[in-house]
Amino acid sequence: MSPLDRFCDTELSRKLMGRVAALADEVAERLGRPAVFIEVCGTHTVAISRLGLRSLLAGRVELRSGPGCPVCVTDHQEIDMMVNLARLPGVTVGTFGDMLRVPGSRSSLERERAGGADVRIFYSPLDAVAFAEANPEREVVFLGIGFETTAPVVASTLMRARLQGVKNFSIFSAHKLIPPAIRAVLSDPELKLDGLILPGHVSAITGRRAFDFIVKEYGLPSVISGFEPMDILIALHELLLQLHRGEARVANKYTRVVREEGNLDARKRIAECFEEVDVPWRGLGVIPESGLSLRETFRDFDARFKLNIEPAPPTPLYPPGCACKEILRGKLLPTECRLFSNVCTPVHPVGPCMVSSEGACAAYYRFERFS
Ligand code: SF4
Repeated sequence: MSPLDRFCDTELSRKLMGRVAALADEVAERLGRPAVFIEVCGTHTVAISRLGLRSLLAGRVELRSGPGCPVCVTDHQEIDMMVNLARLPGVTVGTFGDMLRVPGSRSSLERERAGGADVRIFYSPLDAVAFAEANPEREVVFLGIGFETTAPVVASTLMRARLQGVKNFSIFSAHKLIPPAIRAVLSDPELKLDGLILPGHVSAITGRRAFDFIVKEYGLPSVISGFEPMDILIALHELLLQLHRGEARVANKYTRVVREEGNLDARKRIAECFEEVDVPWRGLGVIPESGLSLRETFRDFDARFKLNIEPAPPTPLYPPGCACKEILRGKLLPTECRLFSNVCTPVHPVGPCMVSSEGACAAYYRFERFS
């Protein structure tokens, strides 16, 4: 058995599940209600749904989703600007696949593509650079969407493009940062929460220390977790144990990947290329210093300046009846949206949480519709 196999071992998982359930019973009895946790990351949302943990722990633990699906939190305003880019003659817009179908206020990239715009899916920004080199007559704009995990890859790509002298490549940066979004979620006085499962991939870049504010400012237990079944059970056990003991700390239970200070090389690359700016998040509004904009030294690769894209007007519109806003803040479950699975499905999504494969509504639809 390889060390990693232990994290998927069925027998070990069953034993630990028994301990989690017993501890959850004790905590629920003490609280007089189920403990409420948020899993911040969309990948955790999918893993928890796939494992059926919500129904296994029903009545003892309530697991809600948070703002950690990058496609879901990309604001209408940003999508409107991406649509404007796609409408420019001679421009190819490159993006990750999930982004195509997310609606802005007037259109989506998929609709623009159907209307003749050159919108392409690239699996890596490096592929977009290669496409730009092969098509020097076009300006290739790659949409930088994602969190601390995607930004270093885009930063490295920019450095490579500059080194190779690629002049017809640029980035539309809509990168976002997770710690400010967590702060925005936790600042909501209406949110009743007992702990957080923190994103493993993001923490690999930021380091554990980046989340110390959760304890200092909000006094909440939290745990950094991996994504295998045992990882998630260990994380739940840790949160319940902290609650049971009346403690609050940021535990790192993903030590095979996450360090105290994070990935210093990746953080350096981010700092070289980007600066922190206030940006709008779908469902959360404008959050101070929660986005990454290209530094002035990279302005020749910044699509906003290179192609004179004006900021689109703010559009606080949400599709009527769509509860994505509340779901991304951990206040509602997808099944509490009245459109879930009758009007809104992955084939006919109404909101972004049903579009993205990491969206909470898509995960519930796929794995928990009948539970
Ligand atoms: Fe929005 Fe559809 Fe989710 Fe309801 S089920 S919150 S309409 S994405």
